[in-house]
Amino acid sequence: MSETAAPKNFIRQIIDEDLKTGKNGNKVATRFPPEPNGYLHIGHAKSICLNFGIAKDYSGTCNLRFDDTNPVKEDVEYVESIQEDIQWLGFKWANLYFASDYFEKIYQFAEQLIKLEKAYVCGLNADQLREYRGTLTEPGKNSPDRNRSVEENLDLFRRMRAGEFPDGKYILRAKIDMASANLNLRDPALYRIRRAHHHKTGDTWCIYPMYDYAHALSDMIEGITHSICTLEFEDHRPLYDWILEVLKTPCHPQQIEFSRLNLDYTVMSKRKLLQLVQEKHVSGWDDPRMPTIQGMRRRGYPAEAIRDFCERVGVTKKDSCIEIGMLETCVRENLDKKAPRGMAVLRPIRVVLENYPEGQVEEVEVPNHPQNPEMGTRKVQFSKVILIEEEDFMENPPNKFFRLGLGREVRLRSAYYIKCTGVKKDADGRVVEILATYDPATKGGSSPDGRKVKGTLHWVSEAHSVKAQIRLYDRFFNDPNPGAGGTDFLTQVNPQSLVILPDARIEKSLTEAAPGAHYQFERQGYFCADYKETKPGHPVFNRTVTLRDSWAKEKSV
Ligand code: ATP
Ligand code: MG
Repeated sequence: MSETAAPKNFIRQIIDEDLKTGKNGNKVATRFPPEPNGYLHIGHAKSICLNFGIAKDYSGTCNLRFDDTNPVKEDVEYVESIQEDIQWLGFKWANLYFASDYFEKIYQFAEQLIKLEKAYVCGLNADQLREYRGTLTEPGKNSPDRNRSVEENLDLFRRMRAGEFPDGKYILRAKIDMASANLNLRDPALYRIRRAHHHKTGDTWCIYPMYDYAHALSDMIEGITHSICTLEFEDHRPLYDWILEVLKTPCHPQQIEFSRLNLDYTVMSKRKLLQLVQEKHVSGWDDPRMPTIQGMRRRGYPAEAIRDFCERVGVTKKDSCIEIGMLETCVRENLDKKAPRGMAVLRPIRVVLENYPEGQVEEVEVPNHPQNPEMGTRKVQFSKVILIEEEDFMENPPNKFFRLGLGREVRLRSAYYIKCTGVKKDADGRVVEILATYDPATKGGSSPDGRKVKGTLHWVSEAHSVKAQIRLYDRFFNDPNPGAGGTDFLTQVNPQSLVILPDARIEKSLTEAAPGAHYQFERQGYFCADYKETKPGHPVFNRTVTLRDSWAKEKSV
């Protein structure tokens, strides 16, 4: 392991200790076990970075295993998107497995449990099961079926498999302890009868193993050394260990729990994300406002920034909620280095340069990155009619307004100083055009007489710019904890989370933006050419992130 590897979190400390004592014969084997019932989100990214990161740093292996034990909610669409997302995040699995690959083995282990008198077929119905389970303060009651003979259990279990009974008629239960303080140990279900088409095994099975049972055995079958999962499984660990101990399996992975990633202004549960998609509150799983990997990718978040974020939030056992601003900081820092600059005017207003020769066009040389000359320069056309941002002009501005106002002078980036001489208004008194003069001596954007201006504006030439669809994205919810206190999270959607600009104009060089390409639009933020909808000559840009955290500012005002 290299000296510069990730900082030692508590899981890495456990692994170090295991390697020292030779616990797993120097092997480190992890897995990422998604259930294919939705798209991956940023919380999964944390688990992916952790599991694949550990395998990488310890020269171990990390499997991708689909925990596909609940056919009702699972689908190949999810199986495919999950693989795509992990690869996009920059990770490679050692092996691709499905828990359903092990269904026969898992079934055989269940027969073994029956033979060991550690499992029985129970005929209580759902209501009775609930009643017999007891509560946190009261012990449960033994099922009347608990003492069935091995022969009878085997016979019933085989007939369950053969499809002789209707759904819900029987379950196979572990025989542990109905008085355990841990409800997970009160004879938990291992198998249920469920006639559902499985995306992988089709109609081969009408009984399916329960998650906890299948999960422990799948880890064991794959020779996983460290089975890393989130905190809600802490109370399931005794069951995980019980299964492997009773079956005396050749290997016994160590389950280690860490706290889930939560982000403010975000819902992360797959159930809620599915609801947003199905009820069309968003355009799909990859809507740029979704916290899914696909949404973030489409919005323009680089994989490297997401990995950096996961590293920075760290791994602990304490539940916490991370500010989404921290993720945005990672994105900004990443894009600042690599995104070439461009000029786009989001809400244009015309500036007519009265003393600029009619019909003249100049090519102004503009650096592609102010701090990185290696990124070169590009030519931007300049002419008599320029477009600037509406908000960069005020007819009678206050002193602190360092942009254009009547009688004021500003710099047009890399071009000239211009001075406002007048305005044209429409019938309602709205300024529709700005009149100005330019100073030919200031070519390139500086004055030979040392005259200073306070503001530098971005601009495009009206005749040499192109219309583009630009979408401004913002937080999807306006409450930091959507759904908290019983509020319907759908009532907390930020109506401004998507603003489509009808008149935005971009400099010509941006028309050929490759799908997915990142830019910093000067003074506006980082944007990314939408990889689905950008067509040659017709870019659609998504705002990835603003240049500064405007939400932090609003809070502090
Ligand atoms: P959800 O509760 O959103 O439906 P899940 O936990 O059911 O998610 P799985 O497909 O079972 O989703 O998750 C695969 C792995 O990712 C699991 O090991 C799980 O613990 C981990 N994981 C899921 N959500 C988070 C999160 N918010 N933070 C960290 N790890 C997570
Ligand atoms: Mg889960």
